[in-house]
Amino acid sequence: MSGNDHDVVVIGGGPAGLSAAIYTSRAELKTVILDEPNKLLEKAERIDNYFGFPDGVSGKELLDRGRKQAERFGTEVLEEKALLTKIDPRGEGYVVETAEREFKTKGLIISPGIQHEKPPIEGIKEYEGKGVSYCVVCDAPLYKDKRVGLLGSEDLVAKEALELYEFTKDIKIYTNGNDLHMPDSLHTKLQKLKIPIEKGEIEEVVGDESLTGLKIEGELQEMDGLMIAEGSSGSLDFARSLGITTEDGVLKVDENMSTGVPGVYAAGDCVGGARQISAAVGEGAKAALGLITDIREDSYKDWSV
Ligand SMILES: Cc1cc2nc3c(=O)[nH]c(=O)nc-3n(C[C@H](O)[C@H](O)[C@H](O)COP(=O)(O)OP(=O)(O)OC[C@H]3O[C@@H](n4cnc5c(N)ncnc54)[C@H](O)[C@@H]3O)c2cc1C
Repeated sequence: MSGNDHDVVVIGGGPAGLSAAIYTSRAELKTVILDEPNKLLEKAERIDNYFGFPDGVSGKELLDRGRKQAERFGTEVLEEKALLTKIDPRGEGYVVETAEREFKTKGLIISPGIQHEKPPIEGIKEYEGKGVSYCVVCDAPLYKDKRVGLLGSEDLVAKEALELYEFTKDIKIYTNGNDLHMPDSLHTKLQKLKIPIEKGEIEEVVGDESLTGLKIEGELQEMDGLMIAEGSSGSLDFARSLGITTEDGVLKVDENMSTGVPGVYAAGDCVGGARQISAAVGEGAKAALGLITDIREDSYKDWSV
């Protein structure tokens, strides 16, 4: 492996990471974004709630524009997955490893989003965008008063069900054979709203032009939508290796997006919150501003153990 010296390594090239990199590279900090390809956001045909696009914009176009903007100021964007982060044993910063090489850096911005785990259910892929959704905040208005299943068994599914309940009361949670893992407070809220929870395994998502039902242990249940709310943040692995505190499956940050580990900031879906593009962009900017100050003040020199 060869060493690379950077001021800033950004893990994840979604809206949060791109926004952060625009700031750090404009501040003339040597910035690289490590970005695993195949983004879910690229599948969004039209984003209607992001500022500045009166006719909407596709997820792909928005990301392409953000990337070009970051590159204009000198950011290097590499399609490489960050596999490991650690404190640089040689002092002054951190090391990020990909399969090909390692990057030595003064500061880190962690923005890998949340990994939506695609359950191995027949038909899921075919009905993505036609009834199968990965984002309740984005798609809930499309399901007003419709029958919607939510797939998941942890905190995320409960939070998404409560959000969806504002649009439709006809909700059912499917744990797909898993036990529930969520705080009692969330479970109690679901019970109070009488949201049913079914443990059976979903065998198939069925429909014609769009999703019409779910096959569960041989029985067909009619549904208009299935929201996938199984998710875990890949950022948790980075959090563990760097000693960042986590809470409810997301990275804990302060109001400046600092993780509390010197020179390490986090932004976007991996810190929870609104899970929206506008929030991710704002958080990326805040994280970058904090890190720019740290690096300019040379405080990174005290970061090593
Ligand atoms: C289909 C869909 C439609 C949506 N529609 C809307 C909408 O209309 N409006 C709205 O505001 N929001 C919408 N959202 C939500 C929005 O996309 C997210 O809130 C936003 O993208 C979060 O930005 P982020 O930068 O935190 O993470 P992401 O956009 O998820 O970007 C993270 C990036 O990091 C990469 N990555 C992950 N792990 C690693 C690693 N180890 N190393 C390197 N790279 C890594 C990922 O591949 C990805 O490219 C939608 C989401 C989806 C999936």
